[in-house]
Formats: sequence, C-alpha cells, structure tokens
Amino acid sequence: MHGLMQNHPLLISSMIDFAERHHGEGEIVSRRVEGDIHRSNYKTLAARSRQVAHALDGLGLEFSSRVATLAWNGYRHLELYFGVSGTGRVLHTLNPRLHPEQIAWIANHAEDSVLCFDLSFLPIVKAIHSRCTTIRHYVALCDADKLPADSGIPGLLSYEAWMGAQPTAYVWPIFDENSASSMCYTSGTTGNPKAALYSHRSTLLHALAGALPDALSMSARDAVLPVVPMFHVNAWGLPYSAAMTGAKLVFPGPAMDGKSIFELIEAEKVTFAAGVPTVWQMMLGHMQAGGLRFSTLKRTVIGGSACPPAMITAFNDTYGVEVLHAWGMTEMSPLGTVCTLKNKHLELEPQDKLRVRLKQGRGIFGVDMKIVDPEGQELPWDGKAFGDLLVRGPWIISAYFKGEGGSPLVDGWFPTGDVATIDPDGYMQITDRSKDVIKSGGEWISSIDVENIAMAHPAVAMAACIGMKHPKWDERPIIAVVKKPGSTVSRDELIAFYDGKTAKWQIPDDVVFLEAIPLGGTGKMQKTKLREVLKDYTLPGL
Ligand code: ADP
Repeated sequence: MHGLMQNHPLLISSMIDFAERHHGEGEIVSRRVEGDIHRSNYKTLAARSRQVAHALDGLGLEFSSRVATLAWNGYRHLELYFGVSGTGRVLHTLNPRLHPEQIAWIANHAEDSVLCFDLSFLPIVKAIHSRCTTIRHYVALCDADKLPADSGIPGLLSYEAWMGAQPTAYVWPIFDENSASSMCYTSGTTGNPKAALYSHRSTLLHALAGALPDALSMSARDAVLPVVPMFHVNAWGLPYSAAMTGAKLVFPGPAMDGKSIFELIEAEKVTFAAGVPTVWQMMLGHMQAGGLRFSTLKRTVIGGSACPPAMITAFNDTYGVEVLHAWGMTEMSPLGTVCTLKNKHLELEPQDKLRVRLKQGRGIFGVDMKIVDPEGQELPWDGKAFGDLLVRGPWIISAYFKGEGGSPLVDGWFPTGDVATIDPDGYMQITDRSKDVIKSGGEWISSIDVENIAMAHPAVAMAACIGMKHPKWDERPIIAVVKKPGSTVSRDELIAFYDGKTAKWQIPDDVVFLEAIPLGGTGKMQKTKLREVLKDYTLPGL
C-alpha cells in the first residue's frame, strides 16, 4: 500500500521560490570583481534567476545542456545557480585555479554549451576559447558598458544586457527530481579529472541535512560567509541551505586575503563562515598582527583538509568562535561528517574537548559510513582500529560522468580513499589519505599528526609531511615547512619541538624549509608536486 501524500519532485527551483516568498528581504551582499560592495536580496535574486531562465531558453539550449561558469562567489553566480538548474540545464562550475589547458579539457569533456565568466578571467577565456569546441555562447558577467570592444571572443555577450532585457515572470518547469542539476570535476591528482554529476534530489536533500542543527545549523538569524568557492562542490551546498532557511549571504568575490575577509565579517555582521584551513590561517595571522577581535562571528566550519589543533584553539579560546571541523568530498556533494559535540562532551576538560573537536565528526543523517580492513572485513567502532573508509547515501556518487573509470562502488559502497577510525560515539577521525600514509618499520605514521605538531610551533605557517624511501625502515617521514614572515626556527629546534608530543619513531627525520608548498586548485597541499620538488632530496645519513 502506498502512502497518500503528494508526490512533489524535489527541485532546486522550489528553494528559490521559497526564499522569495518567505525571506524576500533577506540580504545578499557581494564584494564584486569591480572592487565595490553590491547589495541585493532574495526577492531580487529570484526575479533575476527567472530572467536568466528566459535568456537560456532564448539560446535554444536543450534540457540537460551544460552551462559553465568561471566565477568567484557573488550574486550573479548565485543567479546562475538557480536560473540554470531551475530550467533543467546543468550548471558546470569550472575551477579558474586550474591550468588553462586543463580547463579547456574539462569544458570539452563536459560538452559545455555556454560559458559565463567574471571579466577578471578574460585572459583565461582568451587563451582557451579557440580550443573549446562545444561552447557556442560566451557571456561576461558584467554591465554592457564594461564589455571590452577588443575581447577577441566572437559574439561575446554582456550578462546584464543578455538577461536584463528578459521578463521577470517565468514558470519553472516540473520534471524528474533525479535529473542532473550541476556538476563538478575532481582535482584529478591521478589521471584525468572525473566529474561528479549532482541531481536536483541529491542537492536538495544534501542542503536540508546540511542545515540541521548538528550539521551547519543554518537559520534566518544567520549571516553566512561562504569563503569556500562556489566553483568548488557548490560551496559545500551553502547557497542552497541559505535559500532554504533565509540566512543572509555574504560573498567575498576574489578578495580572499586575511584583511579583506576579516573586514567583510565585521562590516556585514557575519555569524557563520566556511572555508579551508589555509584561508583561516591567513585571517588569523592578520588578526594576531593587528590585535583584532570579532564582534559577531559565532562559528566557523573548517574542512577540505585536516584542521590543525592550533587553529581550533585560536578560534575557540582566543576569539570565542566555535569551530565545526567537517569532512567531505566532491563525490559526496560534499558533506559527510561534522564535528558537533554531544552533551557528554560539554563538561570535559579543555584538552579532552579539543581531542574530540579534532576529529572530523559524526556522520550527518543520510551518510552511512564503515571502516574495513584490507580484506574488506568491517572493523569495530572503538576509536582505535583504523581502515579504509567507505560511505553510501542519497548524495554520494554512484558513477562518474560518462562512466569514466568504471564503477567506483564496492558492494554499493563508495571507497573514499581515506583511512580512518570511528569511536563508539560515532566520531570519525581521518588518519590519512591512503596514498599519503607513511609506512615505517611495519607501522603506519599519520602524516596529519606529524603536520599538526609542526603547525603548533609559533614560527610555522604551513607544514607538509611526506614519506621518503629508507633502506631499513621502508619509509621515514620528513616535514617540509614554510616559516611565518619574520619568524625563525632551525631544523634542530623544530625536531626538538616534537619531544614528548609523539612517539620517538614518529618524529620526522628531517626538516626542509621551503618558500612555498605547492597548493592545488582548491587550496590543498599537493603532495605529489611536493615530491617532485624534493626529488633530489636524500635523508640524512644515507
Ligand atoms: P572537497 O571537494 O570537499 O575538498 P575533494 O574531493 O577535493 O573534497 O577532496 C576530498 C578529500 O579531502 C577527502 O577524501 C579527504 O582526504 C580530504 N579532506 C576533506 N576534509 C577533510 C578534513 N576535515 N580532514 C582531513 N581531510 C579532509
């Protein structure tokens, strides 16, 4: 017997309709590539998204056609989020930090029909447009009078002229909720990039779960700053969760430096911010140097790579901001776990509380996890046994776009490539990426643990631990370090800093000081590149 409830499809258009009706005055503030601050609200966003819908229809694009963006976080990008998906086309957010060759490859692979780009990315578009064989329309996200006459791109449209001429009334089409809504390519550290193809259903369910109190806890009383780029896994779903809850949205545009982010938080009374550790490192540096304090920020979600303990302590203890350590992947839309405390943790001593906060957290509703040994046998949730982490759920990938790489699933579970423990309370902790784990004398060393200790040293700005071949031990860890400007620390001082903080055999054998550690397109340390940089390095004594 079926239930007798209405069977409305879960569509992205329902979120913008809701935001307009219930939170029309809810603010959307953007720092633009032009440098100024632009103010809008959900009512205007909804009307302009419908204008985008008309404009796309006018181009004669078929259902599921890919509309690509090359843009920072801002209101126009948000209009495309709703306007493109709302009409049944697929929003393809390209990552401008990738090499132009790679961007062109990805655009061709996705078979993008339209490319909408911030004017600041014109040099990239100029460099690639002759090689992008499927793109038929180029739209610069600017006013008509800002359009360069000599762009070199045939038929280049100005976004404001293109969509601004359209009517604001539009009836969003109703279609199967399993239709594709957006896509995002993984970084492709091994082989060519592959795309996760999200659906309306997966996006809506992910946004609902992400907004829950023990996940990101979004509400109409929040002012949310997604520093995490909208070109990276839909900015962790924040634009959708915000529309669902009516939270004020504050977009940083291209200005990601510590000073600009801090000033935006203060000026717009931001209560909740989200980003990768490298961004917060820069902002904390700026605040420490100037003796600055937050007046409204209450919590910040930090994920994408492990959040160092020193950062959690600085936010919690020095600035009174709650850190929500979170873990996820492009293939998971991306939210998997968020570290929020249970009642039993509230009375813990600060050191013990920090130990919990350092974990990547509890699975949010909808994400099922397990850890397995090399034979695929499930391991206990005792906080000690570690193994390959597998996940499944309604916003986790079932296959890559175009079936690339064959089926990624093992018995219906997606292997994350992470190695983790899970404790009896369900808190998952990543010990490493499986390819970054260091195997020394038959034991495993967590590169994250080694990095976290170095990051707690006051002179260290960034630290990356990798294993180096060793004739006796198989591998030994070394740590590559970037010093904070004006700070000094010697190799021996840093090695001595590990004393008493970890087992002797887990202390790195050497320290290599570098000007910079190679970062990928999403701000994560690229250990494969680091290994190339250090290819002529030999361990001391060998
Ligand atoms: P995202 O798109 O969310 O950054 P990617 O697909 O680029 O994700 O990379 C996902 C990988 O990033 C995870 O498998 C994991 O190795 C790493 N990662 C993400 N969040 C964390 C975290 N909080 N701690 C440690 N590693 C993390």
